[in-house]
Amino acid sequence: MRALALHEDVLLLESGIWHTAAVAIRSGDEAFLIDSPILPEELETLPSLFEQAGFPIVGLVATHADWDHLLGGQAFPDAPLAVAQTTAARLTAEPGAAARELRQFDEQWYVKRARPLSMPAAEALPVPGLLEIGEQELELHPTEGHTADGMAIFARWCGVLVLGDYISPVEIPMISPGGSISAYKATLGRLRELVAQATSIVPGHGGLLDPIRADALVNEDLAYLNALEADGASATLPLARNTPEQRRIHAENVERSQS
Ligand SMILES: [Zn+2]
Repeated sequence: MRALALHEDVLLLESGIWHTAAVAIRSGDEAFLIDSPILPEELETLPSLFEQAGFPIVGLVATHADWDHLLGGQAFPDAPLAVAQTTAARLTAEPGAAARELRQFDEQWYVKRARPLSMPAAEALPVPGLLEIGEQELELHPTEGHTADGMAIFARWCGVLVLGDYISPVEIPMISPGGSISAYKATLGRLRELVAQATSIVPGHGGLLDPIRADALVNEDLAYLNALEADGASATLPLARNTPEQRRIHAENVERSQS
């Protein structure tokens, strides 16, 4: 796991799996952990890492309800979880889904975990909206299209924008169950405006972006989604992301966008 300070109040952690991002944001004596690393060893180091860095984690936030973003409770079992209303609705509608998918991942990769995933009842935040932290506020912006739920989180005072699963340099736009091409394109349009106001942009997978790179990725992603809509299976993938795994995701996108 790599750790990087984006600002005196912001730490970015990058998991060894899927370049999954987790971000700790602090104001005064309160810090939130947004999303999570994935491997047990990574999660186990978080409490001491944040204690040494002076980030007292008082709450967990998740950008959306996909299991790989929900593991913060394994490191901070007593911290409450806050999510967008859309995400709270999805967690309620699919009880046990995240725990089941984590178990499948662990079985596939022979990962041993001290405890299974238990999801506390999440606080549902109105989005768009604001979430108070210390003396500051986090801006919450809706993101839909990858899934039916989600939010991006903008810490405007430090210029850090946390996207969830959008604008990834390693993953093409993924239309999961509940997502749609049209909602995805609308989200990219909104995120583009936020990207232009940010200095550090953190996608759910793939590491830190600057605004110029993020804007270029928005163009690539829109071009891909337009081609997916028009040409289906024969759509061209973004050149740097044209890998066997991304072609597998593309095939799933084709199936989902036709149903
Ligand atoms: Zn996701």
